[in-house]
Amino acid sequence: MKLETILKEKFGHSSFRTGQRNIIEDVLNGNDVIAMLPTGGGKSLCYQLPGYLLSGSVLIISPLVSLMEDQVQQMRNRGEKRVIALNSFLSAHEKKEALAHLNVYRFIYASPEILQSPKLLNALLKVNVSLFVVDEAHCISQWGHDFRPDFLKLGQIRQRLGNPPCLALTATATAEVIEDIAASLKMRNVKKHLYSIDRPNIAIKVETTEFLQEKIEKLLFYAKSLQGPGIIYFSSRQWTEKAANLLRENGLNKTAYYHGGMDAEQRMLIQQQFLHDQLNIVCCTNAFGMGVNKANIRFVIHFHLPAQMESYVQEIGRAGRDGKDSVAILLYTNGDEDMVQSLMEMELPTREQVEQLCNRLSMNLSKSELEAYALDRIGLTEVQWRLMDYLLEHYSAAGCADTTDLCCQFMKKIESRKQLKQQKLRAMLRWIFHAHCRREQILSYFAEELTEKPEACCDICGFDINRYFSNSRLQRKTAAFDWHDELKRIFF
Ligand code: ADP
Ligand code: MG
Repeated sequence: MKLETILKEKFGHSSFRTGQRNIIEDVLNGNDVIAMLPTGGGKSLCYQLPGYLLSGSVLIISPLVSLMEDQVQQMRNRGEKRVIALNSFLSAHEKKEALAHLNVYRFIYASPEILQSPKLLNALLKVNVSLFVVDEAHCISQWGHDFRPDFLKLGQIRQRLGNPPCLALTATATAEVIEDIAASLKMRNVKKHLYSIDRPNIAIKVETTEFLQEKIEKLLFYAKSLQGPGIIYFSSRQWTEKAANLLRENGLNKTAYYHGGMDAEQRMLIQQQFLHDQLNIVCCTNAFGMGVNKANIRFVIHFHLPAQMESYVQEIGRAGRDGKDSVAILLYTNGDEDMVQSLMEMELPTREQVEQLCNRLSMNLSKSELEAYALDRIGLTEVQWRLMDYLLEHYSAAGCADTTDLCCQFMKKIESRKQLKQQKLRAMLRWIFHAHCRREQILSYFAEELTEKPEACCDICGFDINRYFSNSRLQRKTAAFDWHDELKRIFF
């Protein structure tokens, strides 16, 4: 059957978007493929369409449960029944049922964490997996965003499944990350389809203030003026709540907050309300947005400094998927990097903690005993423990037995991660302070050149911010309102 026919019949689209056809053809020919298409470029289709032509199932590894649920819902809405998401939302009974009949599903979504379960892996071994897909594949890379050790094990899992062809999808990856993805998934003769990450319809603006209070005023101003819907990113959970309250108290009633500390149902509700335009603004941490399939987001504001260009580009990329004019504003106040720095340090265990853990190793504790000790007694966070757990496995597999030596090796690893993160933060700061076209700088970070500068490019090239303001705002002009009093009341 012609690819176009399936595109029309199953998806209702009349033509392929840039890259889709070439990627799909390489996938159908059994190649290992890495595809980089901008956010909203239509990456899902690149495995969903082959799903109708391949003999077996497509296994999709997806980093976020909300993202997974979203995709599955969309497929069901299209009438696809043979799709399942294996994650923590399934009850024990549902999971058991699903595992017993896994081969009836054409599309199987799974989180990297759930793939560590031997039961699931056994069930998967009985399924003919024709295509192994990793969505948001930059998460795999040790150079990528968040450290997710279970992601690094995907290569092994793929081998266990008999090395089915592999498709890795991402919207933002540096050349280094691309190489890292290929290596960790153990890909061979990779076909790379790397399309520009540039989003010409998103104008980019950085605004610097000297004091926090000014920044808060700016935030309020933009939230009131800009045409929505919009997303505002913060790097702390508390701030998302504070800011959402501030906006609501200023008449922006369709505002909510979203962060990883809320329970799953609450988060799902906010996401759904935002998708259906019942909410206009979401104040959130980076837990929100990946895979949020909303075409008409008009602005993305960063209230705090992102830790790296990769995250920044991913986050602003959520605006303007419909191709219409959108704007990304980063608000920077002197010293914002200190917060990034301390978050960075909190993510990694200290030498003392590592030593404490290593000292326990000679006692031959079981893994769960060691985990309990690490969390309860040493006070490691979940993330820190995951990192240590990964390092322990890695080094015990490499036959490193002496604890002092082990501790040294761990510290070296941790130190080099810290260095890397600092390097990325410095690059972010250079981008803020360097008076050179922001778009060009971003592209050059991803080893790309800017070929065509859009009319509304960035604050350095100059553009009119008024075109992003809502009409009512333009008519109203500036409302008489004492920002200072209001802010003092709420924050100080
Ligand atoms: P990505 O994962 O690259 O961010 P998605 O796969 O979620 O993007 O697709 C974004 C949107 O584009 C979806 O609503 C999808 O239905 C739509 N889309 C994908 N391919 C096409 C196409 N060929 N024609 C029209 N719309 C498409
Ligand atoms: Mg996607």
